[in-house]
Amino acid sequence: MSARTYHVHCAAEGCTSRIGKGQLFCKDHYFALPRPLRDDLWTAWRRAMEVYRVNMTRDEQNRRNRAYQDAFRACTEHLRTARRTDAAAMSTVAMAANGDAVRFVEGRRM
Ligand SMILES: [Zn+2]
Repeated sequence: MSARTYHVHCAAEGCTSRIGKGQLFCKDHYFALPRPLRDDLWTAWRRAMEVYRVNMTRDEQNRRNRAYQDAFRACTEHLRTARRTDAAAMSTVAMAANGDAVRFVEGRRM
C-alpha cells in the first residue's frame, strides 16, 4: 500500500476500530507500538510523501516507498506477534470495605 492510502479501519490485524483520515492505527494499537517503531513509521511516511512534492529519481521514489512499506509492515507484524497487553498492566487492585484487596482484571472483578 502507498503512503497516500487512507484507511477507514485500524491497520492492526483483526481490529475493526474506525480511524480518522491520516491515521493508520487506532489509539490503543498505536500506543501499543514501541516508540522506535512509531518514529520509524512516521519518518518513512514523511519521506514517502515527499515523493509527490519533490522531484526525485524513480529509484529514489521506489526506495522511499519500499522503506515506508517496510516500516508499516514492521508495525503490523509487531502488533500481530506481540503479546496482548500484559495482564498485570491491565489489572488494578481496589480495597474492599472490609480491607481485603479486590483485584480487577480488564474491568472484571476476580
Ligand atoms: Zn486497532
